[in-house]
Amino acid sequence: MNRLKSRFARRLLLVGPIAALFLFNAALGRSQSSTYQFNDSHFHLTNNIQEGPGIRDFLGMMGDKAGRAILSGIPLQQEWSYRVDGDRAPSYYLHSDAPLYYYSFTDATVAMAYKSLPKEQQARFDPMITGFNPADMYAADHVRRVLETFPSVFTGIGEFSIHKEFVSGKIPGEVASLQNPALDRLLDFAAEVGLVVLIHNDIDVPFAKEGSEPAYLGEIRTLFKRHCNATIIWAHMGLGRTVRPGKNHAMQIEEILKHPDLDHVYFDLAWDEVAKYFVGSPEATAAIAALIQQYPNRILFGTDAVAPADQSKYVAVFNQYQPLWNSLDAKTSRKVRLENYERIFDEGRRKVRSWESAHVPAVRSKNAETRISSN
Ligand SMILES: [Zn+2]
Repeated sequence: MNRLKSRFARRLLLVGPIAALFLFNAALGRSQSSTYQFNDSHFHLTNNIQEGPGIRDFLGMMGDKAGRAILSGIPLQQEWSYRVDGDRAPSYYLHSDAPLYYYSFTDATVAMAYKSLPKEQQARFDPMITGFNPADMYAADHVRRVLETFPSVFTGIGEFSIHKEFVSGKIPGEVASLQNPALDRLLDFAAEVGLVVLIHNDIDVPFAKEGSEPAYLGEIRTLFKRHCNATIIWAHMGLGRTVRPGKNHAMQIEEILKHPDLDHVYFDLAWDEVAKYFVGSPEATAAIAALIQQYPNRILFGTDAVAPADQSKYVAVFNQYQPLWNSLDAKTSRKVRLENYERIFDEGRRKVRSWESAHVPAVRSKNAETRISSN
């Protein structure tokens, strides 16, 4: 580190004080969050048919609004079945009865997009591995292989889905389950490496009866307890398009937030389909704001934008949440919009880079070369 610092100090003398400060922050992987409105803990660069904006176009959309963002594709490719859809090429999972399948190349696409950027722009992204089948015992091996093929790139895994309305039933083969040892193997590996885990799992089945115990709440709580060394973000607070928050939802989330064995579990507020519940009435906004005020370090904002076409589409969910931003005190709002992301993903980066330097042969030998040349 000292050697790095002194090499930097030499470069700084050459470039002048303002550029120097910028370079120094970029080198440490810091974004200047103070000038941005949010960091995005839930974002998809591509859609269900692997299309989306170029990474430079997306940087333009982030502009002065989003400081940093995770970078994930969507692992579930919508098949274009000519027998089902004819010339009507579907681009969204709800637009066809044809199946979805796991498309692992998405990880290579994300890695190459990230690698095409200069260092100071890379510092604004945390790429995520998603192209695995979480019902497959080999899922963890895929993640390892991606880290070995693209070292110094990824910070986490996900968003990947276990139980997801309209999606789970469209994937041929074994249905993913919270009780599948394949998921345990995956999360064990994520914990070993330090990868941040972004998991999508509906808390309940669609159109559940009010007052009944949510179908998957007990299982996911047990899963979280089994993996207390992993850093886990539960996407959408377990909600979905038709998986509405029951009247005990805030209490169920709070039970996780206050449980001493579950302080490795975080929640995101991503998706317009979820925002609609929390800004649907002043009472709903007040209830979620009260929960966040009590656990300000555990909730993150994400857009869940999928392959946005322009900045107004990209920031729409952030704007939709304006009533919530107005209801939080300044410090809490800042944590949810910016600082929780920085803390969690910076820690993820640090751990994954350290695991890579011990386990990925290409990184090990590169480190050794650097040591020799600087001696
Ligand atoms: Zn998503």
